[in-house]
Amino acid sequence: MSTGTFNAFQMAQEQFDRVADQLDLDQGARAFLRVPMREYHFSIPVRMDDGTVKTFRGFRCQHNDARGPAKGGIRFHPKETADTVRALSMWMTWKCAVVDIPLGGGKGGVICDPHDLSQREQEGICRGYVRQIARNIGPLQDVPAPDVMTNAQHMLWMMDEYESITGAKYPGVITGKPVGMGGSLGRTEATGSGVIFTVREALKELGIRPSDTVASVQGFGNVAQHAIMLYNKLGGKVISVSCWDQADQVSYTFRKKDGIDIHALRGITDKFGGIDKNKARDMGYELLPGEVWIEQDVDIIMPCALENQIHKDNIHKLSPGVKLIAEGANGPTTPDADKVIREKGTFVVPDFLANAGGVTCSYFEQVQCNMNYFWPKDEVLSKLDMKMTSAFQAVSDLAKEKNLYMRDAAYAISVNRVVEACRLRGWI
Ligand code: GLU
Repeated sequence: MSTGTFNAFQMAQEQFDRVADQLDLDQGARAFLRVPMREYHFSIPVRMDDGTVKTFRGFRCQHNDARGPAKGGIRFHPKETADTVRALSMWMTWKCAVVDIPLGGGKGGVICDPHDLSQREQEGICRGYVRQIARNIGPLQDVPAPDVMTNAQHMLWMMDEYESITGAKYPGVITGKPVGMGGSLGRTEATGSGVIFTVREALKELGIRPSDTVASVQGFGNVAQHAIMLYNKLGGKVISVSCWDQADQVSYTFRKKDGIDIHALRGITDKFGGIDKNKARDMGYELLPGEVWIEQDVDIIMPCALENQIHKDNIHKLSPGVKLIAEGANGPTTPDADKVIREKGTFVVPDFLANAGGVTCSYFEQVQCNMNYFWPKDEVLSKLDMKMTSAFQAVSDLAKEKNLYMRDAAYAISVNRVVEACRLRGWI
């Protein structure tokens, strides 16, 4: 996930330092918020299917819990690093604050590639992860969720292990669980739908009808797929998507200029978001190098894969017609590329606002678990829409009022809220 010298944590700190300067934060607050409050690194021994024992490295960071229990996903990725998890936990703090939910920021990860692991081996990692961290997570401490390459089944194994250890039922220990097992309707589509709620609002500000727009999407996992479906419903057309090809170990862009068929493409996609390239070719898709997703002549780009995807080496390739960048991924744009975008004046819905729908629905899942009463899907999604729309409005109002870049306005709101919570508690 980190390419070359890219370090996500340095990037998160650089972003924070910029906003700390703008807000004129004192040294004490800066030093406290620049690093996670707590972090855990551990080994997870797993008996593999061939009888050998393999040790996987796991991490959990709790960046800040002044506003509530830490919250954030656990990702499985072969290139996971402690610094990536640190960065993602920090971004979760800002994300929960921008949508004003009573949660802090956390994140976890395991260095592994689920493509190469059987279901039984993945279950071993999930249960082993919880055995290592059970004392330090919980509904009132830190609540994990799915992220890159983890899903509802992983969450359920983790919950089950936690409940076995504690000897009681704790559905609130983890979110993103299967529906019927403490999960919320709408959670699967929440992140992608949330991205599009903000796209809809941004287009209103720009005075453009969604049906007059065309988009290029990077990634074809859970976030991208649900974002595309809702964007299509609003009348938008996606002409290209890109995704990782596990067999060739590169990514490809799949393009159809008259618009991709999301449902047909989903039908030839594996559970990690990898599209079958041969079947796609037969269906009339052009198969192009992965990196060209950014060069497409479109109105909107949506990076919905990983961090460090729009950087100094490709920002000049961004098509001049792009009017809106909606960041479905966490940390897709590096600060040097961001400077170019800011100076150009392209409208950006920054990551921790655009993709906050997932954690917002996780919060709804916790609320429903606490009541032991589950809402219909429409109710979940309309509450999600309200939350995302009001967060977008607050950021955009501040941006207009103070003539700020959208990312800076979002950061200002979040950092102020977190600083205020830390101050009220007497921490800083
Ligand atoms: N992993 C998701 C994110 O990055 C969701 C986190 C959550 O639901 O806690 O926002």
